[in-house]
Amino acid sequence: MPESEIIEIAANLVEQGALPSHCSRHGRPAVKRADFTLQSKVRLEGSRTRRVGGLGVLGMAERLEQHARKVRVTRVKGWPLCDVCTRTRARWLGVAAVMFGGGLLLFVGSLVVGLLAEKGSVPALAGVAMAGFVLVVLSAFPFSRAGMSRVIGAVTAPEGGAVLVSNPSSAFRAELPRH
Ligand SMILES: [Zn+2]
Repeated sequence: MPESEIIEIAANLVEQGALPSHCSRHGRPAVKRADFTLQSKVRLEGSRTRRVGGLGVLGMAERLEQHARKVRVTRVKGWPLCDVCTRTRARWLGVAAVMFGGGLLLFVGSLVVGLLAEKGSVPALAGVAMAGFVLVVLSAFPFSRAGMSRVIGAVTAPEGGAVLVSNPSSAFRAELPRH
């Protein structure tokens, strides 16, 4: 295994959209340019649960998280995403949506059916409701895998002012201005 290498890109370059035309992870040509906010890593308890709840209102959850203290944010403009990056993100988002939506449906559905059903079926329904709840909670895993930061392998530096990219592709690095 080669050692993981982290390069630093000045935040103002990233915010101006002065970015390479090849993706940072695979070095393939960008098929899409993405604008998003990239956070620094902070140890925030309960942040995953907030993400689960925010699946439907992704943008709002992200904005709320920015208010958390010590989180530095870079407003990324036009980050290059190749076909593989795009597919990876879409696939994880799809899995998360199915788990979250399916779990919610099972949970709410079993409650509704429980209200209408005969008394004897309640224990079975409780099991279904529980399974639905577990699915909703577990959807946090694929959801975090779909996160832009995970897909591109970059975070904002803890002190802000720069974006740290792990193991950037050589095609990506070649197009960065020297500093
Ligand atoms: Zn890629």
